[in-house]
Amino acid sequence: MSYSAHDVGSCPCCLGDRISLMENADHACAVCGHRWRRAHPLSHYETQQGRNELPAGDIERKIIDRMTSIDPLLRNGIRILEIGCAEGLLGERVKREAAVHYTGLEVSADAKAARSRLDHVVQAIDSQQFTAAFDLILAFHVLEHLANAESELVEWNHLLKPTGRLLLETPNGAGHSLLENDGNPEHAHQFTPASLSLLVWRAGFDTITLTNSHFESPVYTDSLRLLAAPKQQTSVRREKLLMRFATKLGENFVVYGAGGDFMTYVAPLSPWLNIAALCDTNTARRGQRLAGLEITAYDPASLRGLPILISTTRHRREITNLLIQQGISIEQIVGLEDIFGLVE
Ligand SMILES: [Zn+2]
Repeated sequence: MSYSAHDVGSCPCCLGDRISLMENADHACAVCGHRWRRAHPLSHYETQQGRNELPAGDIERKIIDRMTSIDPLLRNGIRILEIGCAEGLLGERVKREAAVHYTGLEVSADAKAARSRLDHVVQAIDSQQFTAAFDLILAFHVLEHLANAESELVEWNHLLKPTGRLLLETPNGAGHSLLENDGNPEHAHQFTPASLSLLVWRAGFDTITLTNSHFESPVYTDSLRLLAAPKQQTSVRREKLLMRFATKLGENFVVYGAGGDFMTYVAPLSPWLNIAALCDTNTARRGQRLAGLEITAYDPASLRGLPILISTTRHRREITNLLIQQGISIEQIVGLEDIFGLVE
């Protein structure tokens, strides 16, 4: 093996150029561990049938394994797209669990069987028609078949609503922990945890969870399963945080505590917040300016009635006690954890 960057280009996942050409002409990346092959036939799928053929017990085992990840994502009324839905057996199970609208994409002749089980089956995606249409995209053992996996992922991202989720699975490397290389000629890629999460990240997703050892078939016993969400734009994240501040504190409030927590959790948002005063118990800091605000003592007379955000998790209790002694009601006092601890 030798590195010959000019001949073989860069890694499709990490873009690294430490690529070696294996004896079987596969490429291997020394940075993220990804393996791939350039040439790869896809066209014959359309005439194929029974691609999911396994003994019934194995199919059941596979569906049960997948449902453990799908179940927590189900809500009545959501729209699901399964890419590579085969005969629609997984979709049939999902539809039994929740009142969802289920679209399957299947290029092989198995699409015919899927039509009797799913709400809608297509053989190609009209990306105009389906822009931001889905709450959940499922793609089990599809990505490793796609020569240009990155552009496919980007397209899937566009099909998802901003709050949507992508759940996908591929073999982990060769798909078996004791095999070095996957000889399956239909597989253009052999992913590692690193290469899969890098590719997904570059295609505009944030990984939420990544697990291994999932069952695909008696020979592919080690699959990677990744749950991801479309990356949120900075402005969207900020709006969500500001909404939390507004819900707990209203329009105008006092901030108590001008230390590290203030600088991390409040100061970056200060241009969009209406902070009436920044107070601190440390008299030595009074008169200094932080985030455009002068540090002062808490003055109950001028600030009466305004909610108070205690911007230190460490000293929350002592500051709360101090404020209560000054006649402030506990209902007026909000902690950082009341804002940042909210779970969606
Ligand atoms: Zn790489």
